[in-house]
Amino acid sequence: PAKPLTGRVAVVTGASSGLGEATAEHLAALGAQVAVLARRTDRLDELVSRIVKDGGSALALAVDVTDAAAVRSAADRVAAELGDADLVFNNAGVMLPAPIEQLAVDQWQRQIDINIGGLMNVIGAFTPQLVKAAGERGVADLINTSSIAAQNIFPSFAVYSGTKAYVSHLSRHLRAELGAKKVRVSALEPGIVGTELQSHVTDDGALQWLEGSKETMEWLTPQDIAETVGFIAALPPRVNAQQVTLMPTGQA
Ligand code: NDP
Repeated sequence: PAKPLTGRVAVVTGASSGLGEATAEHLAALGAQVAVLARRTDRLDELVSRIVKDGGSALALAVDVTDAAAVRSAADRVAAELGDADLVFNNAGVMLPAPIEQLAVDQWQRQIDINIGGLMNVIGAFTPQLVKAAGERGVADLINTSSIAAQNIFPSFAVYSGTKAYVSHLSRHLRAELGAKKVRVSALEPGIVGTELQSHVTDDGALQWLEGSKETMEWLTPQDIAETVGFIAALPPRVNAQQVTLMPTGQA
């Protein structure tokens, strides 16, 4: 039988590790051509080699999502080399928790710049392709990575949670706006997934909370997220998974 995503052109941001890396490999295994975007070229090249070795097709895009012009050039390359993107996993992000009174303003700004500014640069560059592809092929997907932090309160995660609440609410708006054009928009809200995300955390309290959580739950794996993204993208065109929350069974 044909693979479920054969003929689809996917873009995965934050593809050099974690959720993005696993999802890029999975979408390629499901038959999509995959453009993988992040800053670390070596990691993207290794990923492309693995996908190609497994019989898939992939293109590396070494881009910082906060650079709007670079994201637009990458979008032009995708259209020229693979065709218009019809699946964008808008996933690059950082999580830098700290109590608000520490005034870690540089970390606040980085989270806002990447999780909101970078996410918008990707939406700005790829929305025309998604709309065009949906018109021609009948469906396209914009899947934005939010977090359970968009809904629940985790002390010292206020700024991160604010950026993710932005992602979830924006996604609901865009779904209503773009659905008539056959572009489905989804917000993916995972609980804790073991990735490099936690390795950038510098706040001791947050690090202890994360470490301690391993005693009460088994964290999700990037593969769990990859399979969920594959499922969302392979749904019949009439079905839009608006908001998907995926929690570790033991996470409160
Ligand atoms: P990782 O740190 O493993 O991956 C983050 C990815 O984002 C990397 O590929 C990194 O690549 C990329 N990235 C970061 N900054 C930029 C930038 N300026 N330009 C381009 N790419 C960038 O974390 P995860 O896989 O866990 O995180 C992926 C998403 O999932 C994030 O949005 C995160 O908030 C969200 N999330 C994660 C959860 C978790 O528990 N892990 C739970 C809920 C949501 P590079 O450094 O090479 O640029």
